[in-house]
Amino acid sequence: MNTDLFINGATVKGTNSIINVLNPANEQIVASVPSASIEQVEEAVDAAKEAFNQWQHTSDQTIIDRFYAIADEVMQAKDEIAQLITQEQGKPLFLAQVEVELTIGWIRYVAELSIPVEHYQENGKDIKVYNRPLGVIASVTPWNWPFMIAAWHIFPALKTKNTVVNKPSEFTPLSTIKLVEIINRHLPQGVCNIVLGDGHVGAALTSHPNVEKVTFTGSTLTGQRILQSAVGDLKSVVLELGGNDVGIVLADANLDEAIPKIFQSAFLNAGQTCACLKRLYVHESLYDQVVEHLIALINDQVLGDGLNPETTFGPLQNKIQYKKVLELIADAQASGANIIRPARSVPKTGYFIAPTLVTDIDEKNALVQTEQFGPVLPILKFTDVEQVIHSTNQSEYGLGGSVWSGNLDYAEQIASKMETGTVWINSHSDLSPQAAFGGWKLSGLGYSFGLNGLLQYTHKQSVHLSPA
Ligand code: NAD
Repeated sequence: MNTDLFINGATVKGTNSIINVLNPANEQIVASVPSASIEQVEEAVDAAKEAFNQWQHTSDQTIIDRFYAIADEVMQAKDEIAQLITQEQGKPLFLAQVEVELTIGWIRYVAELSIPVEHYQENGKDIKVYNRPLGVIASVTPWNWPFMIAAWHIFPALKTKNTVVNKPSEFTPLSTIKLVEIINRHLPQGVCNIVLGDGHVGAALTSHPNVEKVTFTGSTLTGQRILQSAVGDLKSVVLELGGNDVGIVLADANLDEAIPKIFQSAFLNAGQTCACLKRLYVHESLYDQVVEHLIALINDQVLGDGLNPETTFGPLQNKIQYKKVLELIADAQASGANIIRPARSVPKTGYFIAPTLVTDIDEKNALVQTEQFGPVLPILKFTDVEQVIHSTNQSEYGLGGSVWSGNLDYAEQIASKMETGTVWINSHSDLSPQAAFGGWKLSGLGYSFGLNGLLQYTHKQSVHLSPA
């Protein structure tokens, strides 16, 4: 298992402190990873800056061919990568395989995008507006979908002919190291680099003066710090941050279809997904039915080590998150809320919390108001949908939301009133590589995915051509 940095096309051992990567299912060390020193971060940025001189002139076809070759090699290594993801992140192996498969599709999709040039004619002259590459992109990624999110950053940045230095989460670096290793077999040296370590290494990278743009996925607090450190150089940023997604189940929802999807989108990856459904509002006429059906689904889950084929539900990824979610549940219980846990027992070691439903909870409770980022779903009863829209729009977050209804026109009207970057109707959390994804308010700045996401890695340059 590789635990090295990748700088200028070569593996380099980090010379800073060692960080142990723990398997959250058993708290055993999976790998000991030497962090990068500040000098090594600088070397990585220097290598990326040097490589940019050539890479920015690479032909579009070459990039398409190389991306396809990378996607093919990721496919060949799918099982190995999925195992790494399960060991470092905790999700069941089948879900880790889905993460790798989705990533392969994403790489191929980005390969095929073309970078547009606008043409205008005015007063006898031609005007062309190009989307030019920026230079060195710093990419900093979180621990929940480590492999896929790294690819979401790296490939659009490379496609637009920038070079990259990635820093994965210190909790889950292993699958990203593997990705960068594969990328380096297909791209020139220095085009894609990786440095390892905690937030100090991240801060050294994102504040580096030779970094032109930062693409960051993680917590709102870290995103705010990165934005502050970008002010001096007027660095541009894409920030994909936290969320507190609401689901609104209307009285005419088709529960047979909706309930499995609601369960899946609330508890995907043990609730550790930015666009997970995190608070559910149900019309009073369906409330008891919805709760009853969801109880049946939480009772079906098998908690355990993700490498065990019987496991359907993994642990929280790390101890900090585990404790935070337990505290939120305990506080909700102390306030009088009803906590519904499955009948099965929870494994004794590892950061396991069983999928939990919470009813009879006050809307002002922290479990409803904050991003719990864990396997617990507060379910609230409503009678007036306008009231729900008004109160949920008070959230400081604006990542996603969903409406569950048999009346698509009405659901779309509700969508237009929701202050979120994505609204799903009769689904939640299902992302598309084609559709822009980004948060309003404290959920982010800028977009990912599709042409809009791709062009975030470029700068407009207008060329006015007048006859000689
Ligand atoms: P985090 O902010 O703690 O860490 C994310 C990354 O930032 C890690 O690599 C970390 O080492 C690095 N980092 C920490 N301090 C830094 C600093 N000062 N400068 C630069 N880098 C620094 O987030 P996390 O706990 O790993 O991830 C969970 C959060 O990510 C949740 O809030 C979740 O909603 C959010 N998230 C958002 C999206 C999205 O697309 N909107 C997707 C996935 C996760």
